[in-house]
Amino acid sequence: MAFTLSGDDVCQPTPPTPLPLPYWVAFSPSAAKLIGLELNSSGLPVDTAWLDLLAGNTLATKQIHFDKPLATVYSGHQFGVWAGQLGDGRAILLGEINRQELQLKGAGKTPYSRMGDGRAVLRSSIREFLCSEAMHALGIPTSRALAVVGSKQGVRRETMETAAVCSRLAPSFIRIGHFEHFGSLANVVRLQELADLLIADHYPECRSSQEPYVELFKSICSRNAVLVAQWQAVGFCHGVLNSDNISALGLTIDYGPFGFLDQFQIDHICNHSDHAGRYAYHRQPQIMHWNMACLASAMLPLLELNHSADESQSLLRDALGIFPLAYAKQWQHLLRSKLGLQSEEDKDVELIEGLLQAMHDSRVDFTNTFRSLSTIRKEAKIEEIALRDQFIDREQIDQWLRDYLLRLQSEMLDDDQRKSFMDRMNPKYVLRNHLAQAAIEKAQQDDFSEVSKLLEILSKPYDEQIECESYSQAPPIDMQAVAVSCSS
Ligand code: AMP
Ligand code: MG
Repeated sequence: MAFTLSGDDVCQPTPPTPLPLPYWVAFSPSAAKLIGLELNSSGLPVDTAWLDLLAGNTLATKQIHFDKPLATVYSGHQFGVWAGQLGDGRAILLGEINRQELQLKGAGKTPYSRMGDGRAVLRSSIREFLCSEAMHALGIPTSRALAVVGSKQGVRRETMETAAVCSRLAPSFIRIGHFEHFGSLANVVRLQELADLLIADHYPECRSSQEPYVELFKSICSRNAVLVAQWQAVGFCHGVLNSDNISALGLTIDYGPFGFLDQFQIDHICNHSDHAGRYAYHRQPQIMHWNMACLASAMLPLLELNHSADESQSLLRDALGIFPLAYAKQWQHLLRSKLGLQSEEDKDVELIEGLLQAMHDSRVDFTNTFRSLSTIRKEAKIEEIALRDQFIDREQIDQWLRDYLLRLQSEMLDDDQRKSFMDRMNPKYVLRNHLAQAAIEKAQQDDFSEVSKLLEILSKPYDEQIECESYSQAPPIDMQAVAVSCSS
């Protein structure tokens, strides 16, 4: 159900600001299916009113009329510091279709825009669009992107750019920050409404528990633990894991200066405003855990409805303990699978960590290294394994390969079966920064073909797609450090 809380301390009616002369930049037929949109032979909506709707120029199409567009308030911790009230500064919730909330990002000022203009630029909208759809195709929970609509309207950032609106879909956009907002105001009524709404619509299994709110908290923790393990497994860095960017449904949301690892560096920082590396790749699990602790503090008054303060704290502290366990379980499962291991042995974690260490030391390509593991035959001779040539420290990788070949002996699958299993675990195509950048530069010249091409390739990330081989390659040297900033 769409955000059903009402009252001006929760959300404000917010009509989108019209965008002059909009045009399609990108459209996802796969996301359109979620809301049952009828498409023409070009894969665009038959009802042309959708272009105006997704630009923020109308609230109605032939089938649907959104009568209450709104923006919601939330608060949060940014870079580890309490930032107070934030809110949907440039996201407007139009309403719900087929149990999906439809939001316009960049459709103008809202009551929570503070100093911002409520707009988004073409560059960041294309990045959010492509990454949302790519993550979905990788099997990683995420908000979806329906379209990017562009305009020649200027938007000032470091330089003058043009405006775009990215329309996104999710069963709910409720964030940890929504809980933190009402938690900070000790507003138990609103906290209870939020928790009840989540339980009713998204976590019905919590309803029968003796402690539904503790159960809800645990479920949110496990979903986000599983999510961050999935990110680690594909080398995805979110970039801004502030508590206001963390979904209460365990979805990847708020794509900004994210990045997929090219050369593997365990402490890689993708957001160039993150000087201290708080959101570096290897810190993501710990930061997500920290965000769950913020949620626990926010939910405390809810527990205190039925328990003493001490009891409430201890219930939530114990529940928070689920996070590292759920994370480790999922991470081990995913990494074992990436190595083609279906059985479990005690030394597997050591084996996995040994590979990651060697990859880090030699700065090999994250995606391609994992993908190529599936070509290793059980009876291979170390000298024949092409992958070893990618590593600087030959002795280190040879030792690892010896351990790996030995470990493969206790696996039941034959080489071909293991290869097809591993190729569903190790994607060949991810949204590398240089690919997104090339598509953006063309789009800035009004050529959107590369955006469509990337959408198509990334919608089948585990397939070989021989004709697209170049899209699986590591970036050329001069494109290795595409810097991405927050000003989007
Ligand atoms: P982010 O780090 O992108 O999730 O944004 C943090 C906060 O700033 C959120 O409350 C956003 O809605 C708000 N914000 C970001 N960019 C803008 C903008 N151009 N105009 C208004 N608010 C913005
Ligand atoms: Mg945000």
